[in-house]
Amino acid sequence: MIPYGKHLVDHHDVEAVVDVLKSNYLTQGQVTTELETRFAAKVGVRHAIAANSATSCLHAACVALGIQDGDWVWTTPLSFVASSNCALYCGARIDFVDVERGSNNICPKKLEEKLIEAEKKSVLPKAVILVHLSGLPCDLREFRELSDKYNFFIIEDASHAAGATYLNQKIGSCEFSDICVFSLHPVKNFTSGEGGIATTNNPNYAKEMRRMICHGIERENFIGKNDFEGSWYYEQVQLGYNYRLSDIHAALGVSQLSKLDSFVSKRAEIAEIYTTEFSELCLTSPNIPSDRTSGWHLYIVKLDKKFKKFSHKEVFENLRAQGIGVNLHYIPIYRHPFYATMGFQPSKFPVSESYYRSAISLPIYPSLSEKQLDFVIQTVKSILR
Ligand SMILES: *Cc1c(COP(=O)(O)O)cnc(C)c1O
Repeated sequence: MIPYGKHLVDHHDVEAVVDVLKSNYLTQGQVTTELETRFAAKVGVRHAIAANSATSCLHAACVALGIQDGDWVWTTPLSFVASSNCALYCGARIDFVDVERGSNNICPKKLEEKLIEAEKKSVLPKAVILVHLSGLPCDLREFRELSDKYNFFIIEDASHAAGATYLNQKIGSCEFSDICVFSLHPVKNFTSGEGGIATTNNPNYAKEMRRMICHGIERENFIGKNDFEGSWYYEQVQLGYNYRLSDIHAALGVSQLSKLDSFVSKRAEIAEIYTTEFSELCLTSPNIPSDRTSGWHLYIVKLDKKFKKFSHKEVFENLRAQGIGVNLHYIPIYRHPFYATMGFQPSKFPVSESYYRSAISLPIYPSLSEKQLDFVIQTVKSILR
């Protein structure tokens, strides 16, 4: 089966991890700091905080922004459940804003309409979590304008968007957001095995996130509060978690980070070939506006309504039967039983619903061979022609 995505680990990566295994420190230490420093420099941001997953980073981001019981957090239905679970961890309530047809990202117009309604009822969200689905950046400037007007925080879930740019700035620079989160899960654009990085330009958020991912303990060297207290002294100042990244993982992350640009170029090459080859078929290929570039974590096509030969499900199962590990990103979050009990009505999200009935993620990853790529193209063509 040709999967929809796959990591690419070479001997440099292996050596980097082995070096840590032979060293004195296995968990969070110098190598994790190196990953943070390099990543911050790469995306052009002041602070980068590494943790054991993007999910942990999203939780830490919500805590750092003071999200708590009674607050509202809004996000897109078309994401992995972690994008909304993070708000629930904090006791907040979650709501969704439908996506726009072209980008499959949260729709700024629908967000504005929802904000106008929410303002009347005094239930404005404390934060909106934007997801750059497939790696295509949301129109961040428009969201920033809305956040200034309606006073909510912006968290970017950039799990798909490592290596993407918006208005010539790297995603992660937080030019238009408060905190941006990346996933280093193996299927993402670069990996540490498991891992996540949160970026921010705000020193307080950085400090809060660091503390929260390490038991709520202050890292700084303290002088004991009492005469009898010596250099052993430290303080837990809030309830935190153990969300630390290990240096073993960080070593893989550092080594992979040096290849991120080449990984993303390879993904972009594959995307371009797909788009050219599929131009005559009854499907919609991704369209990237000229003011941004995609991280191409996913290549998502949507079957046209006028295609009647097979149903969406038939096309999907047919591709899998022929050895192409297509996937669907994502089942709209409100459709999961856990969320359905909160009373969401699918009919309120018509664009997400139509996406769910037409989307297919095709294989895209740096080690996809020409032969495999050709096989995918020919198979898709044979089914959709
Ligand atoms: C992968 C992913 C996550 C979760 O990342 P982990 O590092 O596995 O916690 C969150 N949001 C989106 C959009 C993702 O694709």
